[in-house]
Parts: sequence; C-alpha cells; structure tokens
Amino acid sequence: MPDTLPTIVHLDADAFFVSVELALQPEYRGKKVAVGGRERGIIASASYEARACGVYTPMPTARALKVCPDLILLPHKGGYGEVSRKMFDLCETITPYVQRNSIDEGYLDLTPCGLKSVEEIERVVRGLQKRIWDELQIPVSMGIAMNKLVSQIASKLRKPRGFVVVEAGAEASFLEPLDIGKLPGVGTKTETELQMRGVWKIRDLFTKTERELAALLGSDWQSFLAMARGEDDREVHTEHEDAKSYSQQETFSKDIGDFTEIERVAKGMIDALMPSIRADGKRVKTMTVKVRYGDFTQETAGRSLPESSDLEQPFYPLVAELLRKAWTQSRALRLVSVRFSSVEDGGRQLDMFAETDEKRRKLAAVMDQLNKGKLQRVQHGHQLSAKKKTGD
Ligand SMILES: [Mg+2]
Repeated sequence: MPDTLPTIVHLDADAFFVSVELALQPEYRGKKVAVGGRERGIIASASYEARACGVYTPMPTARALKVCPDLILLPHKGGYGEVSRKMFDLCETITPYVQRNSIDEGYLDLTPCGLKSVEEIERVVRGLQKRIWDELQIPVSMGIAMNKLVSQIASKLRKPRGFVVVEAGAEASFLEPLDIGKLPGVGTKTETELQMRGVWKIRDLFTKTERELAALLGSDWQSFLAMARGEDDREVHTEHEDAKSYSQQETFSKDIGDFTEIERVAKGMIDALMPSIRADGKRVKTMTVKVRYGDFTQETAGRSLPESSDLEQPFYPLVAELLRKAWTQSRALRLVSVRFSSVEDGGRQLDMFAETDEKRRKLAAVMDQLNKGKLQRVQHGHQLSAKKKTGD
C-alpha cells in the first residue's frame, strides 16, 4: 500500500556554508561562526550559536559584528558546490529520484523503493542523515511526509539535525498548531497582516468565513486553504529526466548474484538505449553503471571513451569493467542501471576507425529499422551467446 506511506523526503543541510567550513576547521565547532564578506559584506550563513546571538542571513556583516562582537567571521571560500554534489550523490544511494532544489536542499522520492512501513522509511532516511554526517561532516535536517509541501515544512521545524515524520492523514493536524509564517509564501509582511486580523496559527484560518478569507488572502484563498490543510500534488523532478542523459534500469523480481547474468542485462540496456541516441542525432561519451543491493544501498562506476560514439560496440567492453568496480560487495543485486551522459551532437567524426564505424553505423541503422517495425527480432551477439550460457 505505497500510497499510505510517507515517501517524500525534504533534505535541508543545516547552516550549509558554515558546516562546510567547520568540516575543515572543526576547532570552531560549537562557536559563534558565520561565513560572509568583511568589507561591506553580507552574512551568507551563520552557525546556530551565532543565530542565538542575533545573527541572521542575509545581514550586513558590520551589523552582525555589532550584535555579536565575538563572532568568528570566515571568508566565503567557495568549493561548496563540490560538497553539495557529494551530499546529493549520497542521496542517490537510496533512491534515483532526487531533486536538487538548491545547493543545500532537495527532495527525495522513496515511493519506488518498495519500503513496506514507516519504520523502514525512517531507518533508511536516518541512515542517510548519519552517512552524510559521517562522510562529509554536514549536519542535515530531514522532513518525511506524503508530499513536498509538508515534508519541506517538517524538515525546517526542528533544525539543526531535525528529523520529523508526518504520517499519512496527519497533514492537517500537523500543520494546525504551527505559526502562520511557516506556510511557504507567507513572508514577514503577509504574516504581520494576517496576525493583525487574528490569524497567528495555521488553525486560525479555519475559524474564518469564506468572505473573510477572500478579503484576507485575495482571489487565491482556496488554494491557500488547501495548502494550510497540507494538500500538494507536485512531483519530485529528477535529474534523470533531463535530456542530457539516456538511462535505463531494471529492478529484478528476485535478487541476482550471477555476474554473467547481470552483464547480459546491462549489455541489453546499451542495445535498448543506443537506437534512441542515434534517433536523436546524438553521440555519447560517458557510461555509468549503477548497482543496487537488496537493502537499497547502491554503488556506481563510470568511464568515458576517448571519443563520443553512437554505436553499441565501443561500450560493450566497459560493462564488465564498470560492473567489477561498482559491484564491490559479495551480495546479490536488486537493480542494475546503465546511463549515458556527456551527450554531444552527432556530426560524423573523422577518426581512424571511420571506415569500420561507418559500416557498423549502417548495420545498426538496419537493425534499428527491423526492431522498430518488429519485422523480426534482431539480436546482438552477446544476447545469443548469453542464451547459450544459460543453457549450460
Ligand atoms: Mg539549509
């Protein structure tokens, strides 16, 4: 019953820039620290100790140093993108459905992971929270709910290192006692206006008549009210949807531990993807193989060809190599995926294999045509040989 489980996670790193700096300079941990420019600068990020002292973002640095004279001010050094990428890569070890919203926050959709209970979901998400801390020393807060709206409010509720789960059906009662300003889109100005009319908590909205609501919130009051009830049907948009890569994955009904079998499946994915790459007039350079175990941990390995290609053959030899790199644990796999990236426009390239490539491309075009028309099933050599092997 996946639609009764809260499977949308909002992840929000705590004081991200400061946390990245503290990972490098742990001696400042627990102190009033901020990242920002000194001269006419602005505070970009403040530790929770500094916030308790009245420092917030964005605030002019000069002002921050006035309210908090012992503030440790660290320059904005950069390199934060790299840590962010690593953080989201860790997210992708539990689900391929990760939406990176900004450098330090995003959504995860665990719906396709087949988790069976709230406890199981909690265990997986706590595992991720711990792993991000263990490997990157970045504290993150997690909100888990049925949709993006509620999970986002939940993740911000108990920062730092928050962990808030809102079970299915509990959205409205979760939101009711919260300050009206917790609703996304309610800025300080709107908040003050609402407070002046007696709306302090989200639940206060429901004591108003429709007329009053329309007067308070304008013509959009109904969608505002739906939000106050915790209703939201926006989907988690993944990176994989973008046209910059081609990927395919297969989840097995039963975990598979046989290398040859997995290799055959992965090669089949090359065969399945390459015709669409050719059809789009593209060439690809990088192939990434991902393996996932029964407990949803996953590993990836990728490699680029010296030159991009739109043919199956140059990528076949990479399959075994990448599988050996990614599949480090001696456990059976639940899922394997193949992804092509570094997509280039497919002009003909004059390399030393041009003649052979041209022949192969012609052959490939014929096979694509046959496959498309379903006139007959044309198979590549490895599919045939794999069949022979299974027959052993
Ligand atoms: Mg944050």
